[in-house]
Amino acid sequence: MLKEFSYYSQLSRSIVKWVRSPVASSPLSAIQENIQHREANFLQLLQAAILANPKHPLKKLLDWAGIGYEDIEARVHRNGLEETLQELYREGIYLTHDEFKGKQEVKRGALVFQVASSDLANPLYRAIMEASSSGSRGNPTITRRSLEYQAYRELQETVFLNELELPQREQLATTSAIPATGGLRRLITHARYGSPVASWMPLRPVFHYRVLTSMYLLQLRAMGIRAPFPRYLPEDDFTPIAKWIAGRKSQGKQVLVTGNVSPAVRVVAAAQELGLDISGTRFVVGGEAITAAKVAIVEGAGALINARYTISELGPVGFGCKHMHGNCVHLSMDALAVIARERFAPLTDTKVQSLLFTTLLPFAPTVAINLEMDDAGELGNSTCDCGLMQAGYTQQINHIFSYGKLTGYGTSLMAGDVLSILEVMLPKRFGGVPSDYQLIEQEAGKHTSIELRVHPRLGVNSEADVRDFFLRELQRIWSGSSTGRTWSQSGGFQVRFAAPIQTNGKKIHPLHLLGSPHPRP
Ligand SMILES: [Zn+2]
Repeated sequence: MLKEFSYYSQLSRSIVKWVRSPVASSPLSAIQENIQHREANFLQLLQAAILANPKHPLKKLLDWAGIGYEDIEARVHRNGLEETLQELYREGIYLTHDEFKGKQEVKRGALVFQVASSDLANPLYRAIMEASSSGSRGNPTITRRSLEYQAYRELQETVFLNELELPQREQLATTSAIPATGGLRRLITHARYGSPVASWMPLRPVFHYRVLTSMYLLQLRAMGIRAPFPRYLPEDDFTPIAKWIAGRKSQGKQVLVTGNVSPAVRVVAAAQELGLDISGTRFVVGGEAITAAKVAIVEGAGALINARYTISELGPVGFGCKHMHGNCVHLSMDALAVIARERFAPLTDTKVQSLLFTTLLPFAPTVAINLEMDDAGELGNSTCDCGLMQAGYTQQINHIFSYGKLTGYGTSLMAGDVLSILEVMLPKRFGGVPSDYQLIEQEAGKHTSIELRVHPRLGVNSEADVRDFFLRELQRIWSGSSTGRTWSQSGGFQVRFAAPIQTNGKKIHPLHLLGSPHPRP
């Protein structure tokens, strides 16, 4: 209790410092400057936050490989940043996700050591604020942010959302209230940069977090920040958002909705059920993959959907622009350098282009070289003609996805294969939208069991019907293989009418895999 009190009063002091800090006169030129100096920024961070820090895992790896600062500096000048990172990767200078999370020891030749995730924290800037990952990639991690970093995130956010017409639209934010800090951060950022959030509709947290959220809002308003009090959504009901958007539209206003992917799909479904016109609404969403089925639902209502791609330990990885579709984003080249390595997704024979991330900003909360986060994608150059391109975001990542594992009874499936059943076939047959169905992998004694959850709101009444349909579809995909047969013969696969599990960050993933923590039953 005392710890919680001190955390929230610290947060309150941090907010005061942030709100009082100066607003940048030109967010665009601050970003352009960091893109121009990204190689110099990398070398500086390498020297000050890695090589000068004996605890840093990359320092241990570089010492082991006998690679010093002058060597890397010469390579960067000769071959460029990305080519140098590829070379370093081939020389063993990288961390896998399991190594980073301390689940697996780092082993390179005779060198063996264990990483604590705090080992990668930036020692150069004083952290004033905490942000927690949702836990969708394993245990949630706390990332500690400095004021300098928080102020820079505002610039990125402003440039990005301005490109998606924020100044011409009214923003409705669905980002979480306290205990998460994302909602407050969004309110502060846009109020400081002249496009205050018009409406905030997060999911309803428990009572004492609602009180805390209101206290912060009173504090913000006293400091002159234009921030709306939240209108909490009733459990699992997105109709208030659909109604608000339609109301604004009838008055000739267009809306930009920020938040996660699943709520966006549910808002569109709610609008369609009520016969409300929300065409022209732009959803700028992240947290989950924007699958083809979800794009089809949003676009079917005449609305628009753009991706953002954020990894909480690393910050914004990329931003979609008006010309991009699905999971395609301009890479935040000011903050990150990204290369790819080809590997097999765990327990499958499917090859993926796994992304390796290197942080560049002097105040980056996590300092990393070639850090793998178990995400895959296609790197390339952007060809669109947009404001982000003009800012210098000339590289892109397309077809981003998290390659997880889904194992059942000694067989393994690539997530993409079952996705079409969950997101297209099941809704077609039994109604609802993609986030109404979820496949959950869990430990049951020594075995792994798989549960297919179907949202009770759909009113489906026969578990056997759903089970038979799902297994038939599986067999259709894997005709001739033993996978479908193994599933159907095993008692470990069952259908349950219950709401899909949300992660701490209120995301719903179509596949909820082993190791996903803190499920909300
Ligand atoms: Zn673009």
